[in-house]
Amino acid sequence: MSFEAAFNTSPNIVISTPGRVNLIGEHTDYNEGFVLPTVIPQTTKIALSARGGSRVRIASRNMAESGVLHFMLGDEVRHNSWIDYIQGVTQVLASAGRRVTGFDVYIDSTVPAGAGLSSSAALIVGVIKALRLAFQLELKDTAIALLAQRVENEFVGARVGIMDQMAVALATPGQALFLDTRSLDYKLIAIPKTAGLIVINSSIKHSNIGGGYSERRSSCEESARIMGVRALRDIGIDATQKLTMLPPHLMKRARHVITENARVQAAVTALQAGDLPRLGSLFKESHASMRDDFEVSTPEIDILVEIACADPDVYGARLTGGGFGGSIVALASANGARGAADRIAKRFAERTGLSPSVLVPVV
Ligand code: ADP
Ligand code: MG
Repeated sequence: MSFEAAFNTSPNIVISTPGRVNLIGEHTDYNEGFVLPTVIPQTTKIALSARGGSRVRIASRNMAESGVLHFMLGDEVRHNSWIDYIQGVTQVLASAGRRVTGFDVYIDSTVPAGAGLSSSAALIVGVIKALRLAFQLELKDTAIALLAQRVENEFVGARVGIMDQMAVALATPGQALFLDTRSLDYKLIAIPKTAGLIVINSSIKHSNIGGGYSERRSSCEESARIMGVRALRDIGIDATQKLTMLPPHLMKRARHVITENARVQAAVTALQAGDLPRLGSLFKESHASMRDDFEVSTPEIDILVEIACADPDVYGARLTGGGFGGSIVALASANGARGAADRIAKRFAERTGLSPSVLVPVV
């Protein structure tokens, strides 16, 4: 399929938004803490034309079996399918007083969905950016990220934080986005040329709607309440004695968030110093914390991380994204990354029978 085949006309606007990989800082964003994502080469291409009236028509090459779907502006109803991501955009824009008319949109993405690489944010931010152009909406990129988060929170029903949307809206290749998710202050930090990032999709899909993600978020909110702070961000690494106020199951959850915030800040220092061994150690510590304290890893992902960490060209590796499946990120030397990525994927496939894919480095 194509825009032309779906709608019998050509698009006025074509833009691309990247997926993202989080280097470190997992489950810290909805605790108002720090994150350090960067973009991946895989992108979501949005082709769009304004049409007048109030009908919206949508099609996605990645959801070809759905064919062309449509809905009316003002009549958005949740269907628990991918149409919600577009209906959510128009509903949230309307509630923010932003006027659009009907339009046609065609989506074509190389960001794998449900792999922890933010295909959802790439889609939503991309559609809002295309609508910004089509309808001359005055929206800064940060405002777009906040609207995109509302789409997931209020319409799709995923209680995600702000990292993905900010990363996708603002990050640039070769740089990591050091973001304070409370103030939304950020700094772009150059990734040293000596570093080679590896991203491997385990092929186990995750979901942020309901289930484990939502439960983790509630545990964090409860922990903050018991310790008398607005968010876990407010407990520094030097105040971990406060964790003794919590029952054991919450203590583990909160300890992950508090130590992870400290690791993000340490990772920024390591990145700026070009200290890859230190950054690799932080990746390993982060994974152990997600596995043992936050309990969002899976046995297969643990195997993938273990295989990666055993590779001679790898400094460290960890689960990236919300967890319960998805992808890993590993840090290798720039020259060693390609070979290491292929070795890791091959060993993982042999050991588990799963079909992983190497997304970074691209061939
Ligand atoms: P992630 O953001 O980690 O990839 P999510 O569960 O947040 O995972 O979002 C995945 C969902 O986003 C898909 O199930 C689908 O509904 C929607 N989506 C993502 N990319 C596309 C696409 N190219 N076309 C249609 N829907 C998409
Ligand atoms: Mg997502």
